[in-house]
Amino acid sequence: MKRTIESLIRPSVIRLKPFSSARSEYEGSADVFLDANENPFESSYNRYPDPYQKELKNIIAQQKNVDPSQVFLGNGSDEIIDIIVRCFCEPRRDRIRYMYPSFGMYEVVADINDVRKLPLDLVENFELDLTKSLEDQSEADKIIFLCSPNNPTGNVLKLEHLLFILDHFDGIVVIDEAYADFSSQESVIRLIDDYPNLIVLQTMSKAIGAAGLRIGMAFTSKLIISYLNKIKPPYNIGAVSQSLAIKLLQNGEKIEEEIMLIKSERQRLWETLKNISAVKYVFPSEANFFLVRFQNAKNMLKYLQDKSIVVRDRSKLPGCEECLRITIGKPEENDRLLHALMNYSYAESTFHR
Ligand SMILES: *Cc1c(COP(=O)(O)O)cnc(C)c1O
Repeated sequence: MKRTIESLIRPSVIRLKPFSSARSEYEGSADVFLDANENPFESSYNRYPDPYQKELKNIIAQQKNVDPSQVFLGNGSDEIIDIIVRCFCEPRRDRIRYMYPSFGMYEVVADINDVRKLPLDLVENFELDLTKSLEDQSEADKIIFLCSPNNPTGNVLKLEHLLFILDHFDGIVVIDEAYADFSSQESVIRLIDDYPNLIVLQTMSKAIGAAGLRIGMAFTSKLIISYLNKIKPPYNIGAVSQSLAIKLLQNGEKIEEEIMLIKSERQRLWETLKNISAVKYVFPSEANFFLVRFQNAKNMLKYLQDKSIVVRDRSKLPGCEECLRITIGKPEENDRLLHALMNYSYAESTFHR
């Protein structure tokens, strides 16, 4: 028998009486607002924003085919990851499990909150080791963080593995789908009705093109969201971000076109990179970046920097030795990259002659 959601929540969060504003308590309609010490002179941001981002959630819910009550928004998914850890984990006692290598914030958030952590090493092709991922479970294991497509490796986790973890992990399963829009694998959002312990994360920072707005999305049960709402800062998403996000999502065609172009550039880079002699290996990617192995990642990083191209060094991570993570850019930026890499191989080969 698995533990109930309520028994996974921190007791202090169960007891917590959240901050409440007059505006969120007042249900009627009024036109004189003297409750929040705001400046009364109108601009587009003199008032506090909607604490529950109803209009934005309605649009997101419609696009993702869920109920608005199953959507939670954060100031980036980074904030949501922090809120989830604080919601379930007792500092110094409880523990998170997380796939490794993956997105660095799971670890950082655990450290900030003094929560114990168990990295789950990936095996061949950066897949999960199901047995290891689930062994020695204790009362203290509250959350497992999975990422698909995974950052920085680019691969998706097998659906059968995700289902196995959802069935056999006695705690909250967070599946971070920051790169879902680039992937051919269907999102697991459709599973939230079947798995009360599932939280799916997506973000407006990657495919949607709004990293500057800071809007992350969580899809999960109404029950879990009621606890996340108790913890979140009351006005965690600014009015300007909310209204720009609404405009952006209403103009979905532009986003679709950009995603298509990024995917076709991914195909072009995949085919070209493989034939460049400085490139030792390109890992297949379902995201908007490639993990690329070189003879010497450090030298390559410097060389590219000299050509004013910035990429991310991931070479210290297990399984990513001598690897750089390269984001897919605009076609002309990708040309710059390819050109630089081709010249590198030329310089190398003449040097060694
Ligand atoms: C970029 C990224 C995020 C961060 O998203 P924000 O919404 O910008 O905070 C979350 N998860 C993964 C795996 C990412 O790569």
